[in-house]
Amino acid sequence: MENATTNDSNKGLQKQKADGRQPKAEVRSIKADSRPLYPQRPEGKWHNRRVVFSILIIALLFVTPFIRIGGQPLVLLNVIERKIILFGIFIGPQDYWLFGLTMLSFFVFIVLFTTVFGRLWCGWACPQTVFMEMVFRKIEYAIEGDAGKQKLLDKAPWTSEKIMKKGLKYTIFLIISFAIANLLLAYVLGTDELYKIISEPIDDHIGLFSGIVIFTAVFYWNFAWLREQACTVVCPYGRLQSVLLDRNSINVAYDHKRGEPRGKLHKGTGRTEGDCINCFQCVAVCPTGIDIRNGTQMECVNCTACIDACDAIMDKVGFDRGLIRYTSENVIEKKTAKVITPRTWGYAAVLLLLWSALGFVVATRADTQTTLFRAPGSRYIENSDGTISNLYTFKIFNKTNHIIKPSLHLDTPHGKLLFAGSPDLTLEAAGMSEGTVFVIIPKSELKSRKTVLKLSVLQGNQQLETFETTFIAPEE
Ligand code: SF4
Ligand code: SF4
Repeated sequence: MENATTNDSNKGLQKQKADGRQPKAEVRSIKADSRPLYPQRPEGKWHNRRVVFSILIIALLFVTPFIRIGGQPLVLLNVIERKIILFGIFIGPQDYWLFGLTMLSFFVFIVLFTTVFGRLWCGWACPQTVFMEMVFRKIEYAIEGDAGKQKLLDKAPWTSEKIMKKGLKYTIFLIISFAIANLLLAYVLGTDELYKIISEPIDDHIGLFSGIVIFTAVFYWNFAWLREQACTVVCPYGRLQSVLLDRNSINVAYDHKRGEPRGKLHKGTGRTEGDCINCFQCVAVCPTGIDIRNGTQMECVNCTACIDACDAIMDKVGFDRGLIRYTSENVIEKKTAKVITPRTWGYAAVLLLLWSALGFVVATRADTQTTLFRAPGSRYIENSDGTISNLYTFKIFNKTNHIIKPSLHLDTPHGKLLFAGSPDLTLEAAGMSEGTVFVIIPKSELKSRKTVLKLSVLQGNQQLETFETTFIAPEE
């Protein structure tokens, strides 16, 4: 069945290549009863490199929530309360500029990176691929054996051996899913909050504990059942490939110039076909079940398994390695490697502009954001001591992730502030304080009907922010 399907697609490939078109990926949908894939255990030079890199990625993922800069987590992604910390910089609800620019530059960076390096991220650093291929799949191979044995076990009746193997596998899957759910919460809530959930009675954190249980179930379903369909059907990044990639993008690719026409190897006869001996090893190891010889496909996560598989075959038959390799369509077709194209220059220029704007916003960013407006409907008040008063309402937002106790100060002209009541200006992390205040200025300081006031927000002697407003006085 598999061969029939592949042969059909090969005919399609030949036809598409004949009329100069790039083969297209077929659109898949999630099927609850779809037959699971049984990719063969990958091995080889590229796989070993990916193992080392995956260990680093997993270590980084688990260590990062514990790293702090100046008492702040290195990364906190509390999207629920809009509190984000990136590299120790707190991005609160008031920092919409910073948040927007960060998201936009991240998006442009992804576009630029993908245009040049294809889906390198998917194969090497995406947590879904890293956990699926390097943790869950490896456990599966260790317990159930390679692809053939897994297939036989799935078809076998429920003997005590099968129950033991499946029970062990899914128990380990559940434990790791629980660990990943906790890891996710450490990124969203921070390690301190996570420690509280773990160490304090469940009743005190029933909502968050339920969150851990739900995420454990989601990760378990993802890694035990959804698997490669998370990349081929769910992930929007994979679906963007047809827009982001061009003929110069570096991808895992089959050298059809060298490989075609494919044909079985017959010993003792002169070979007239290309180097592909149609052994299907590249298909057998593919975790997404595709045939890389059909061209760049949306389902390919650039995991490199087919490179290793094909290199091993090339070694066996005495051909040069690299029939499947990291390369671009233009290198295969025209033998010209051009990584930096006008398109990449354009993306790089946009990214540079965005990063410059981001740097400016970060460098000029104050710890507070204050608004001070004249109270609606109020006019000036002429006082008997020769001063004029204007009534203002103010709001001070704390843009940091710690408590601050700021004060308002009138810098120019000479005058004073008189608060209505005695407002508590102590601001919780990302908190806000508001109140009303009279600004009182001697007539002698006022030269015209409208005067610009310069005010600052102080914490102790430290100036956190300066801002201006207007003061109204009677016409002279
Ligand atoms: S592993 Fe290499 S030789 Fe075998 S079918 Fe795939 S491309 Fe052809
Ligand atoms: S085609 Fe090759 S690189 Fe792409 S997913 Fe399959 S095995 Fe991995």
